[in-house]
Amino acid sequence: MDQLHWILLFSALLCLVRPLDASSGDADPIYKACVDQCEKTGCVGENCFQHCKFSSDGKSIDGPWYLQEPLYLRWKQWDCRSDCRYNCMLAREEEREQLGHKPVKYHGKWPFWRVYGIQEPVAVALSALNLATQFHGWLSFFILLHYKLPLRPDKKTYYEYTGLWHIYGILSMNSWFWSAVFHSRDVELTEKLDYSSAVALLGFSLIVAILRAFNVRDEAARVMVAAPLLAFVTTHILYLNFYQLDYGLNMKVCVIMGVIQLLVWAIWAGVTRHPSRWKLWLVVVGGGLAMLLEIYDFPPFRGFVDAHALWHATTIPLSYFWWSFIRDDVEFRTSSLLKKIK
Ligand SMILES: [Zn+2]
Repeated sequence: MDQLHWILLFSALLCLVRPLDASSGDADPIYKACVDQCEKTGCVGENCFQHCKFSSDGKSIDGPWYLQEPLYLRWKQWDCRSDCRYNCMLAREEEREQLGHKPVKYHGKWPFWRVYGIQEPVAVALSALNLATQFHGWLSFFILLHYKLPLRPDKKTYYEYTGLWHIYGILSMNSWFWSAVFHSRDVELTEKLDYSSAVALLGFSLIVAILRAFNVRDEAARVMVAAPLLAFVTTHILYLNFYQLDYGLNMKVCVIMGVIQLLVWAIWAGVTRHPSRWKLWLVVVGGGLAMLLEIYDFPPFRGFVDAHALWHATTIPLSYFWWSFIRDDVEFRTSSLLKKIK
């Protein structure tokens, strides 16, 4: 088990040096010409789009005056561009397939088939399931702490990491929510929200990993650990949102934060006498494997299931076991604290 683990982490680290592929689909001159043409005429071949009806001065032609405000117009332009990109991509991919070429990425993403206007239906469904799993885990954690186990005389929990796991639960539900939104409609705003919430979650879970594994209970020491990490994560989020959404850099930051926390948990699982350490092992090994899926991605199977969607699928059982470990930790810490008092 130990050996497998190291191989895993090592290979994850290796990926950091592997150059990341740029998306070649949108650099294709035929695709570019198609999108340019479509944004002017509103049509790709026989297909014409409602969203692309602009008058010569750029204002929307139809709709009442109050909907012709700039914001609405911007949405419309986004929609027009997104319809154009999607249909040009499908047209181009069909041509490429006939020539025997493999699928390529467009704007950083594989060509997906939309269902009812949802861009990646499988990823949306899986994000929703992840959200439900997180909610179930967090709720059962809450019930266990506040209704099943004894509380201190001041009504606080004996468990010392209650607040941290609450924040973790909220951040992870937030992140799955935006993931579902982003995979159903990929525009700049939803993309930034998805990336930012994922980075926030990853950064915070790194803090929790360090605090729990090193058993940091003193408030001042906790601040000392959390402050630099919070500062780093905040800076990174601001950078992504207001300076440049650099996918390569973000991937590196996320993989580094992910690998460090897997390492922290793995080392702790190796030395601790925690009764549920096997659950920790399960999540660490599973998490490492899942991370490989996110790094080595492959084109979607039948236009629906790609590596990223599979990654979202693996996180469902992992979150279940993760919250189960957290609940075990609550019971373990509470009972040992109660023993000490008696
Ligand atoms: Zn996703």
